[in-house]
Amino acid sequence: MIPVTKPYFPPKEKLFTYIDGIYKREWLTNNGPLVNEFELRLKDYLDLKHLLYVNNGTMALQIAIKALELKGEIITTPFSYVATTSSIVWEGCKPVYVDIDERTLNINASKIEAAITKDTSAILATHCFGNACDIDAIQAIAEKFKLKVIYDAAHCFGTKYRGRSIFEYGDISTTSLHATKLMHSVEGGVVVTQNADLLKRMAYIRNFGHDGPEKYNGVGINGKNSEFHAAMGLCVLDDIKVILATRKSQCDHYDLILKNLNVRKPVIQNFCEFNSAYYPIIFESEEVALASKNELEKFEISPRRYFYPSLSKLNYIQSAVTEVSDSIASSILCLPIYQDLSKEEQDMIARILLRVQNN
Ligand SMILES: *Cc1c(COP(=O)(O)O)cnc(C)c1O
Repeated sequence: MIPVTKPYFPPKEKLFTYIDGIYKREWLTNNGPLVNEFELRLKDYLDLKHLLYVNNGTMALQIAIKALELKGEIITTPFSYVATTSSIVWEGCKPVYVDIDERTLNINASKIEAAITKDTSAILATHCFGNACDIDAIQAIAEKFKLKVIYDAAHCFGTKYRGRSIFEYGDISTTSLHATKLMHSVEGGVVVTQNADLLKRMAYIRNFGHDGPEKYNGVGINGKNSEFHAAMGLCVLDDIKVILATRKSQCDHYDLILKNLNVRKPVIQNFCEFNSAYYPIIFESEEVALASKNELEKFEISPRRYFYPSLSKLNYIQSAVTEVSDSIASSILCLPIYQDLSKEEQDMIARILLRVQNN
């Protein structure tokens, strides 16, 4: 069985050493020493001024929306994981979809202005599959119309933009450290901002709004994460260079063995150093994509239709026309990619795909 992705498991002994420490200290959660250490190590690795470790990537998005006090309409992408839209709706705002750029699969910045109304408060865009949005164009629009920008950078651990961590961009950038992501802490998420006041507000929100034991700064939620999760995060972070290098060589190998396959890949945005987190391919039609998926499944290989359907088709959303997103959603597959996927397994996947095409 070859799944589309598999969680990375660091050496057990290392994790157990951290767990021994947790037992000795008898400190499980509420801003413990491992959570602090993990935040410092993440900041150091990513070369960021501020960040907060939270309990998942969806909470990170919701805390970001809450901290920016967004109201009304939020312009967003129809081509992302459902959490990008659900967190907007959960926070009482209305998602307004702007179709994607068919080359990069990210929100089409040239179509954003037309979607802005007097009720628009922000742009929430996903750097899809680890590829940067047109950050410069989005920033210019945000400044012109005084909108806030949140980036859902759940796929972007290790991606850089103009030589800096991509998490530096936007008013707030969020990521997910879920088990299926390239860098993980079983469950987990991060909010990043350059703004110290915003950081403070998000720190209060993460901890029920507590400002000391008997005082509250405002409404909050439980967005904290535990010592056990931080322990796993610390172990995976130790291996992140190897994980990123393996992804890169696996992507290069797919490029080589699939060069005669009639598909296209997303175009990497200018100034973006891609983290090779995913290997999406876009087929000429839905028919070929589904035939390829079926054939792979016969051999117990599970590619995924990421992201199908477009979020603009969700049943709790006023449906919107997003032609490019709908067309890509129906004709895209993400091929398996994870740490111990072998070259031989990749070769087998390529042989099956080429056979479907040449039949
Ligand atoms: C995984 C993911 C999320 C949600 O993160 P969780 O940690 O699972 O809550 C949000 N947005 C995108 C684009 C994702 O891929």
